[in-house]
Amino acid sequence: MNILKKVEDFSKRISGKIFANYSLKKSSWFGLGGSADIFFKPNTLNELVLFLKQFGHILPFKVIGAGSNILIRDGGFKGTIIKLGKNFSHISKLNDTTIVSGSIVVDKKLSEFAMNNSISGFEFLSCIPGTIGGAIRMNSGCYGYDISKSLVSIQAIDMKGVVRLINADQINYKYRGSDLPKDLIFLSATLKGKKVETKIIKKKIDNFVLKKKQSQPSQIKTCGSTFRNPINKTKKKSWQLIKEAGCEKMIVGGAYISEKHANFFVNDGSATSNDVEDLINIVKEKVLAATGIKLDLELEVIGNQI
Ligand SMILES: Cc1cc2nc3c(=O)[nH]c(=O)nc-3n(C[C@H](O)[C@H](O)[C@H](O)COP(=O)(O)OP(=O)(O)OC[C@H]3O[C@@H](n4cnc5c(N)ncnc54)[C@H](O)[C@@H]3O)c2cc1C
Repeated sequence: MNILKKVEDFSKRISGKIFANYSLKKSSWFGLGGSADIFFKPNTLNELVLFLKQFGHILPFKVIGAGSNILIRDGGFKGTIIKLGKNFSHISKLNDTTIVSGSIVVDKKLSEFAMNNSISGFEFLSCIPGTIGGAIRMNSGCYGYDISKSLVSIQAIDMKGVVRLINADQINYKYRGSDLPKDLIFLSATLKGKKVETKIIKKKIDNFVLKKKQSQPSQIKTCGSTFRNPINKTKKKSWQLIKEAGCEKMIVGGAYISEKHANFFVNDGSATSNDVEDLINIVKEKVLAATGIKLDLELEVIGNQI
């Protein structure tokens, strides 16, 4: 029996959704990308366990959250894209300062939940358009905060369908990353803040959101910062290096660099993923030639080129 037939049989036994040859365009903030061989949206942990036990070792897979940090190539993804469904969107208070959140909860929602419960430490999440799962993988953050600073533990599942609890002190977090194994799917996180009056938290959120609005573009097809800020003697940020290399007005097909923030690359609505990737590579080369600094990608490129 071929794999697709087996997957079709499996789909009859679950309440979640499985699609074959599924367009990924709406799964990334760039609005780009080909199709996934299989797109799986499990509603429950049990469905995810069953799927991984049956197919985890056969099919390459990639889990996605809100898709605000991934560029999906035009040739699509050969394998399974997993996007967790509704049972992974729970959020609750464990005690006065601790929150338990499903990994598909969007960052802004967690920030608001924390504010409404007078828990501080999550204000920065109001500025990040991803999910808690994506934030854990990327160690997302801004304005001096990142998710690792409030993490207590993660519940995750591996490719064999085994669920594990990982305490924060077992993880080596770094700027926009960690040593967490690439094949883990995060299910939920326990996060700890501190007790602060709601109105003070609200003020902090409003300040962060305003700061973001003033410095970064919105309502566009982008994945935010394209490159990590490099560690270099001059302490220059990626957007400064891109400008210094004379790239800020660069265009490839329908991909261009935001006028408001030179590290934000944008799809004007007509771009292909290839345009964005070509723009990335040209900028990287020019920055290296002009400054001697090698930029590393912050966003992740997945899938196959056409
Ligand atoms: C306008 C804009 C502004 C942004 N500003 C910031 C910012 O200030 N700071 C910042 O850090 N980032 C920023 N980003 C980038 C992005 O929002 C973050 O990286 C975010 O945390 C990604 O979350 P996501 O759910 O969209 O993840 P995705 O883009 O879907 O995936 C990103 C990575 O996380 C992994 N992943 C997602 N969910 C899970 C899971 N459940 N289990 C295991 N792995 C998982 C994916 O496999 C992938 O490797 C910005 C993006 C945009 C578009």
